[in-house]
Amino acid sequence: MSTITNHQWRLAARPVGRIKETDYTFGEEALPELRDGQVRVRVDYLSLDPANRGWLNEGGSYMAEIPLGGLMPAMGVGTVEESRNPAFKQGDLVQGLPGWQEYLTSDGNGLQKLPQLGLDPTAFLGLFGHIGLTAYFGLLDIGKPKQGETLVVSAAAGAVGSIVGQIGKIMGCRVVGIAGNDEKCAWIKNELGFDEAINYKNGSVYENLKKACPKGIDIYFENVGGEILEAVLALVNNFARIPLCGLISQYNATKAPTGPSNFVNLLVRRVHLQGFIVIDYLPRATEGITKLMEWYQQGKIKYRVDVVEGLEQAPRAVNKLFDGTNQGKLILKVSK
Ligand code: NDP
Repeated sequence: MSTITNHQWRLAARPVGRIKETDYTFGEEALPELRDGQVRVRVDYLSLDPANRGWLNEGGSYMAEIPLGGLMPAMGVGTVEESRNPAFKQGDLVQGLPGWQEYLTSDGNGLQKLPQLGLDPTAFLGLFGHIGLTAYFGLLDIGKPKQGETLVVSAAAGAVGSIVGQIGKIMGCRVVGIAGNDEKCAWIKNELGFDEAINYKNGSVYENLKKACPKGIDIYFENVGGEILEAVLALVNNFARIPLCGLISQYNATKAPTGPSNFVNLLVRRVHLQGFIVIDYLPRATEGITKLMEWYQQGKIKYRVDVVEGLEQAPRAVNKLFDGTNQGKLILKVSK
């Protein structure tokens, strides 16, 4: 038996509404010695994502259902501490789905070695990981932006939304972001170059959007749903495109949400709305990361991370996404 103790969060009950700490148990286990073919990864950072909430539901979502007692899954980056697998060596920086725990013991399946580019490892959970790819492929493949068009993005100061808006500017669009407080609005406008920013908690979203989008809306990058979607649908142009990336306003709902009352506008304005999950684009990840890296090095894209320290904080920290108190990509620092 090795002397390593691994702490983990396991699902104890399916949350009703927001995630509570009592929906999990925090346990520890002594790790066995590695077998041939195995690798031991010290988990350095975990990605906290709105989708984590949907994964907890009975029946799962696009991921298999997590059984009660199962380890809470999460993407993360870590460092190989010990390897009996020829594909990995001590010190390698790797990415995978380690879950809410301190150490991952793996046969190497699903683990990717990350390049040593002098970047902080958190960058691989944000701009150069699933977040950047979601923004890149959702906007370019489904949104199909053209020079001079108006792009609206919700949760615009968040991890995905902030990158979507910046790519929109690179594509020559007029970009309008919707976010939940004035500080976020100032950041996307003054530092990220959005043309307009609307605080959806202050005044009528519809009236403010109408003012900010005098030529209507050609692309709506949807992260939120609810009233914001309804306001946008009132203003979409003929042949608008809506990449349906997320519906965060519904993830904690305890009653079935009602649909937008003006759904008919999708029909009469011939709108293309398409849901997507970033894993659909993993075969094209290199294409997306290469382009994002180029724009980053040219100073055309900025990103920020919000790092919460300590594995024990996980169930509380994930709720920052639903309170809107995260400032950029929400990440949990695990290794000390
Ligand atoms: P963010 O960093 O954007 O954090 C979530 C933000 O959502 C909060 O900061 C908050 O910002 C906003 N928000 C929370 N609740 C509400 C609400 N009720 N109404 C309006 N806004 C709300 O998270 P991500 O960038 O990781 O995710 C953004 C969206 O993208 C989510 O819907 C997520 O599920 C989706 N996503 C989809 C992927 C895919 O493959 N399809 C992959 C990754 C993410 P504010 O202060 O502005 O309210």
